[in-house]
Amino acid sequence: MTPRAESPAVETPAGADAPAGRFDAIVIGAGMAGLYQLYRLRQLGFSVRVFEAGGGVGGTWYWNRYPGARFDSESYSYGYSFSPELLEEWDWSEHFSAQPETLRYLEHVAEKFDLRRDIVFDSRVASAAYDDARDEWEVALESGERARARFLITAIGPLSAPVMPDIPGVESFLGEAYHTGRWPHHPVDFAGKRVGVIGTGATGVQVIQEVAKTAGHLTVFQRSPNYCAPLLNRPIDAETQREIKATYPEIFERCLESHGCFLHKADPRKAMEVTAEEREAFYEKLYGEPGFGIWMGNFRDILVDQDANDTISDFVRRKIRERVKDPEVAERLTPRDHGFGTRRVPLETRYYEVYNQDNVRLVDLRETPIARITPKGVETTAEEHALDVIIYATGFDAITGSFDRIDIRGQGGQRLRDKWADGPKTYLGIQAAGFPNLLTLVGPHNAATFCNIPRCIEQNVEWVTALLAHMRERGYRRVVPTEEAEAAWTAHVLELAERMLFTRVDSWFMGINKNIPGKNKRTFLLYSGGAPAYRARCDEVAARGYEGFLLQ
Ligand SMILES: Cc1cc2nc3c(=O)[nH]c(=O)nc-3n(C[C@H](O)[C@H](O)[C@H](O)COP(=O)(O)OP(=O)(O)OC[C@H]3O[C@@H](n4cnc5c(N)ncnc54)[C@H](O)[C@@H]3O)c2cc1C
Repeated sequence: MTPRAESPAVETPAGADAPAGRFDAIVIGAGMAGLYQLYRLRQLGFSVRVFEAGGGVGGTWYWNRYPGARFDSESYSYGYSFSPELLEEWDWSEHFSAQPETLRYLEHVAEKFDLRRDIVFDSRVASAAYDDARDEWEVALESGERARARFLITAIGPLSAPVMPDIPGVESFLGEAYHTGRWPHHPVDFAGKRVGVIGTGATGVQVIQEVAKTAGHLTVFQRSPNYCAPLLNRPIDAETQREIKATYPEIFERCLESHGCFLHKADPRKAMEVTAEEREAFYEKLYGEPGFGIWMGNFRDILVDQDANDTISDFVRRKIRERVKDPEVAERLTPRDHGFGTRRVPLETRYYEVYNQDNVRLVDLRETPIARITPKGVETTAEEHALDVIIYATGFDAITGSFDRIDIRGQGGQRLRDKWADGPKTYLGIQAAGFPNLLTLVGPHNAATFCNIPRCIEQNVEWVTALLAHMRERGYRRVVPTEEAEAAWTAHVLELAERMLFTRVDSWFMGINKNIPGKNKRTFLLYSGGAPAYRARCDEVAARGYEGFLLQ
């Protein structure tokens, strides 16, 4: 391929106060991914404009302000690793810090690296179209303003498109109503109120155990029980703080070696290789340890072998029965239709004990589905539950949802939404054929979707930055994967997924969302080969001159 002479140099950027203009790169989203991408591109001397729908930086940690929102990743394994100074000066107060602290951290990062001057807030991108003649993207905001750039980089989040339940009457409720992913900035008081929570996924579990502390009465509307495991959070004392800071290189190294970039590395043994007593003792140990160890640090075959999976599923089911006093309630809280770890495992703090409280009631929606939301509360097929507050913990249109909400058109006006209608097709989860110069951080089929996400964000951003630097050095204006490379990667992703037990279960991992029309067909959104293998493949592709990509 002959490189073109012209480089994507800075072209008349607009002033920081004017969203419109022409840039080397436009980044959509100012969460963990967007902030780091801005930082890296600025280092290269690229002109960058970031458009962010929210009123501040932080993404997930800006929007999800619900009570109880906190990490499932160990705090010190989650922060950015790129700046030793940042690592040294930032003290995480808890092993699994709460949302306000993470938001403060990201605000601190934006301040420290002077990132805000290139970000335009309260600016939702409505559409983006590729201009084939000029090798650039035109982005239109909801306000109607437009901007252009050679490269369009999406950092729009795997869990950032909130979904309301598909139930009639939602608008009719006269009390207070909140979606956890769009929580208000003012405090919400539950004292003495009748609160209903719809949804018992990872977010629902966090919010329920917190709201149960003060609500006058709490009704939990559960459609699918999950296997929840203890978080076992605790404050970080001064000595541990010193130790963390002294061992950051080892912490990050350990993350990078593990399948999902967590501190927890799978046990090399298979579940059935040990005796029943050893297995039980191992599960007890994991259940008594903080974080995702029971999911990520378990026997290496629990997510691929049904017999192995049955043993840990039975163990967690027993724990639920031990912790919930009423056997009927315990049974309703016990998953029977899927195995442990085949859906996102919620981590909890005294979640099951909530159901032993007199002021808490569990409503099983499999027995009595919600018929409608009424002005007074929630009506199931059995009765009307009068409520003062409804909390919708109904999650997100995961991974592809934030893409679907933007009208993205590539070569020949092809819509990304249409291209991905039967499941995403990508090369490395970073690009799609027919969409030149569109780079999708934490996109579908990217290892970042099944990861301690910032560790994978750093890899994504650094890889994309190196690609753009490579293009600039050689005068290329356009990068796009070949159809063959895309087909091969997509087939590889599907092949890897097929051995995983989670492909036999309906969940957001599989693109299922019963609240969204059309999202009822299982597709493969995740890359399940593990972050180390993904990273190695990306490095190999780069080392071979970006094999599989057409550079022009
Ligand atoms: C409650 C909760 C807890 C979590 N806990 C963990 C955890 O413990 N460990 C972990 O690894 N991951 C966790 N995650 C996943 C989390 O999303 C990632 O860790 C990480 O924050 C993703 O960063 P991001 O920058 O890719 O996306 P986000 O943080 O989601 O940021 C995307 C940004 O893009 C903006 N945006 C989207 N569309 C548009 C548009 N059209 N125009 C303009 N702006 C747009 C959004 O407003 C948002 O600010 C959690 C997620 C949730 C919801």
